[in-house]
Amino acid sequence: MARPDLAKALSVSRRFDATRGCFLVGLTLTAVHAAPWLGVIGKNAYAVLAVGGVAAVVVGTVRNRPRPSGPWWIWAISAVLFAIGAVVRQTDHTTGDLTSHRSLVPEVFTLPGYLLFAGGFVWLLRVRSRERNEPGVALDSTMLALASFVLAWIFLLSPAVAIGTYAPMSMVAVAIYPPISGCIVAIAARLAFMSGRRNECHQLLLLGMVTLLSGDVLYFLIETQRLSLASGFLDVPYGFTYTLMAAAALHPSMREVGTPREFQPVTPGLRKGRVTLVASALVLPALLILIWRPASFAERLIVASIVLTLTSTAIARLIVAMLQQSRSEARYAHLALHDSLTGLPNRQYLIEYVAALSKDSRVNDGGISVVYLDLDQFKLVNDSLGHAPGDRLLRAVGIRLQGVTRDADLLARLSGDEFIIVVRAGIEEALTVAARIKSTLQAPIEIGVEIFTSASIGIAHAESPFAEDTAAELIRDADTAMYRSKAEGRNRVTVFDDSMREVVSKRLAIESDLRAALAESDLEVYFQPIVSLPGARVLGFEALVRWHTADGWISPVEFIPVAEESGLIIPLGAWVMRESVARLAEWRALPGYGELTMSVNVSAQQIRGTDVPGLVETCLRDADLPGSSLWVEVTESMVMADTLETAATLERLQRIGVRISVDDFGTGYSSLAYLRQFPVDRIKIDRAFVSTMNDCEKNLRVVAGIAAIARALDVDVVAEGIETIEQADALVAIGCEKAQGFFFGRPQPPAIAKQFLHDAARKHAEPAGALGRGLAPGPMTPR
Ligand code: C2E
Ligand code: CA
Ligand code: CA
Repeated sequence: MARPDLAKALSVSRRFDATRGCFLVGLTLTAVHAAPWLGVIGKNAYAVLAVGGVAAVVVGTVRNRPRPSGPWWIWAISAVLFAIGAVVRQTDHTTGDLTSHRSLVPEVFTLPGYLLFAGGFVWLLRVRSRERNEPGVALDSTMLALASFVLAWIFLLSPAVAIGTYAPMSMVAVAIYPPISGCIVAIAARLAFMSGRRNECHQLLLLGMVTLLSGDVLYFLIETQRLSLASGFLDVPYGFTYTLMAAAALHPSMREVGTPREFQPVTPGLRKGRVTLVASALVLPALLILIWRPASFAERLIVASIVLTLTSTAIARLIVAMLQQSRSEARYAHLALHDSLTGLPNRQYLIEYVAALSKDSRVNDGGISVVYLDLDQFKLVNDSLGHAPGDRLLRAVGIRLQGVTRDADLLARLSGDEFIIVVRAGIEEALTVAARIKSTLQAPIEIGVEIFTSASIGIAHAESPFAEDTAAELIRDADTAMYRSKAEGRNRVTVFDDSMREVVSKRLAIESDLRAALAESDLEVYFQPIVSLPGARVLGFEALVRWHTADGWISPVEFIPVAEESGLIIPLGAWVMRESVARLAEWRALPGYGELTMSVNVSAQQIRGTDVPGLVETCLRDADLPGSSLWVEVTESMVMADTLETAATLERLQRIGVRISVDDFGTGYSSLAYLRQFPVDRIKIDRAFVSTMNDCEKNLRVVAGIAAIARALDVDVVAEGIETIEQADALVAIGCEKAQGFFFGRPQPPAIAKQFLHDAARKHAEPAGALGRGLAPGPMTPR
């Protein structure tokens, strides 16, 4: 393991050294070249520098294997062209000559060299910015170059050569380079400062381009006779350029120069800054031309054609930007109406579709029906196999559903595992569609493993003529019917009728009343004793929430599911936890109850949506109680459903000493496997078994069996719902040591529970009677 890492580190540091060595050699050669007294040696030093620079770029590209490597090969070629151009220029001896005698041969090499060079940067920029088909960068740079060319011409060149003879082509040859290298600097700067990771190679490249630009400006000043310098000094900036390019190519970070920057979802067409740039590039030269009187026809021709090119480039740029804008608008329009996972229309599309149908007179007799389907147990797939297989399943289901959707109908995906088919016909037709859905989902679906799935379906129908906003109503009703299908055991079809609407509105009423009750502290926590057998000594309490309204008591069986669905369970559960732990602290101070425990029910939504261990820790700390004083009761189905996440949370609770109790054991999957797999400390045998234990021999054996297995697995057992002495006796007979039920005590408000503890302590002090008679049934409080 260690060795390849070491090798990697070594090779990186060797390349670092290569970069440093490159600087040393390059700068030395440049200095030697500039020293006037070294004569021929100096000249050769420059040649060595040029050849070495090209070689370094080639070697660096081969060794570092950058992606893309194209720009580097292009730069190697342009470096060769530069070198040839420079050699030719030295033999021509025409620097400073702007007449028709000036040789234009060097330009045959140098100019393509510059253009190729710029091309390499544009290439890299496009790869990095991910905008592969954006010609904007090239066009913007062209405009910038042309505009600065005109400026250089008018302000620097023209006045310089106003006296004496000169040829326009020679002037072009002089004025063309600084604008091009200026543009390259601009691109290199964009490349280096674009959002993304900083990269040394980018910085070396940028610096190299700045030295290139200074070389070009220096040359320009000398050509226009504003400066005079020995030719050795003149080449110093170019010496730097060669050195920096070579260093960039040899630096290991050059491998990442083309790495695309982080994704930016919006591709703007023309940004404000760019518009300003384009506009000034257009307007400025035109203005200058207005006030400038060109000397000759040829000159006017050159400037006019440049301005013409400039204008057409700008227009091309605008057109490109507009096309881009409309392309991305079309893409966003599609995205806004389609689901990205399956490509199917989404809810918005569906709503607009139904609105359009409402105006379509061809949809008549049958009206429209909405078939709403929700996959059964999809969450189980997602949680146990992961999201990628879950996505694959959804896509596969989408394809199957397309197979059963008639051309005239619309298939859409609402969200998650919910799909809708809008059928342009009555209930009968919708029922056939539902039957087809059921049968198409029967065959297993291959998503890496074979999955069997089914769907719960709800159907709602609207007669025509229907209103534009019928869609939302239909979706809601079909959803309600689908819920009924789920509640009745899944994999079935339910047609909506108005009575279901009452159920929904009742739920909504409960939700808003509960919200108010929670805000106004209208809820209470009652406590039901959990006792040991035989003898009925109080071991602890279970906290059970109570809600008394003006219309009487509302059972938790009714409002807890509403609280779970609406998210109200989170504040509610936290409040119950705080109350219960505070009461426990108070009661543990009573003589003889130092080991009393509290059991608190916790819903799946709390475990998934909040930091239950954090809450528990705070409550315990505030009450100064150990973790072992608290039991958290979770349901069997919850332990089964969210395997990983739930197990992690339960383990965190156990780490602070809290114990986990599985509620209603025997009503769900009752898998013995999870008793070993999950951190379970106690099971509570459901009332359903206990209450029929004495009439049904089989149930007695079930309870005995569960108790035996739990003992074998070292898991604590509590039997729930003990109402009679016969039941209590039966439990003792099968060796069940803990129980809870009306026989021992009903759920009661805190004050009565405390009194209950006093009484129990007193009774236990008396000589114990027969089992259970040691403790009278608790005071009769509501439920
Ligand atoms: P559970 O956790 O199974 O609670 C035991 C239920 O059985 C309680 O119903 C209790 O009053 C009732 N019970 C106890 N002994 C007997 C008996 O001998 N005979 C009969 N017939 N019933 C008995 P309750 O209080 O109506 O609560 C119903 C369910 O509501 C609870 O079932 C629990 O799942 C949930 N619940 C109650 N309070 C909370 C809470 O604070 N948070 C959460 N998440 N759920 C709660
Ligand atoms: Ca419980
Ligand atoms: Ca229970």
